[in-house]
Amino acid sequence: MWRLFVLLVLALANPALSETTAATLFAAQKEPSAQRPSAIGTYAKGCAAGNVELPQDGPTWQAMRLSRHRNFGQPVTIDFLKDLSAFAVTQGWAGLYIGDIGNPRGGPMNSGHASHQMGLDVDIWQLPANRLDLSADEREELSSIPVRSSDQRSVTENWTPVHQAIMRQAALDPRVDRIFVAAAVKIEMCKTATAADTEWLQKIRPEGGHDTHFHVRLKCPRGSNMCQTQTPSVSELSKGGNGCDETLAWWVSDAYLNPKPPKNPPPPKPRKKKSTELLMSDLPPQCMGVLQSD
Ligand SMILES: [Zn+2]
Repeated sequence: MWRLFVLLVLALANPALSETTAATLFAAQKEPSAQRPSAIGTYAKGCAAGNVELPQDGPTWQAMRLSRHRNFGQPVTIDFLKDLSAFAVTQGWAGLYIGDIGNPRGGPMNSGHASHQMGLDVDIWQLPANRLDLSADEREELSSIPVRSSDQRSVTENWTPVHQAIMRQAALDPRVDRIFVAAAVKIEMCKTATAADTEWLQKIRPEGGHDTHFHVRLKCPRGSNMCQTQTPSVSELSKGGNGCDETLAWWVSDAYLNPKPPKNPPPPKPRKKKSTELLMSDLPPQCMGVLQSD
């Protein structure tokens, strides 16, 4: 049944659509689809119906890199950002600088991200938002700041208790599934969190990069029946731990940072398609409807 639907969609579609990359097709759509909000597929192979725009300027945020036109997400994501940025104000910042969420209709992007396809992922800058009157040009030119050292083993002097308070607040939010940060950031938070208050650290996941921003991933919202929630990616988390253990220490070990080449290298795995190479036929069939909707 599913295969039949795919074939039907492909046959009905303009033949050119089956060769152009999905990233190119989604980038060409400048407005969200006029559909009921729904996150469709997976974080790295999906799209988003009924996205809404995060206003470029808000009372407690500014959207950055406006030229990318990626300040669109599911309503739940936009609500979350309004709430978290208001919290940042209570901690002494003027608000938050919001990086990429996704395309107006989600889908793969021509640069920068493997995920961010369902309108449920957002990058938030580690640069404290001290002013909210940045011009469009300033938002192109200004860069965020690294909170992790270049040897990847520790946080820098840019890291503050306010950063930690904001990420803790995000992790405590029931809408949030996980938050990706540089491992050194999680290690620091594990050290400084109060003993009775570490459960939220379960949602903080070490990931390569993520030294100048943290990446918040929301759960599939209610009503998004075609959205697939991710299963835990860190082994100990399935046992209910907070991840402050040797698995975390591995991220700053020589075994990870300076690995010796193995004596008997395993045969290379077949190369996975990059997100920039995905075609419409790689996405759930409903994404064609999102792309072509008014
Ligand atoms: Zn991201």
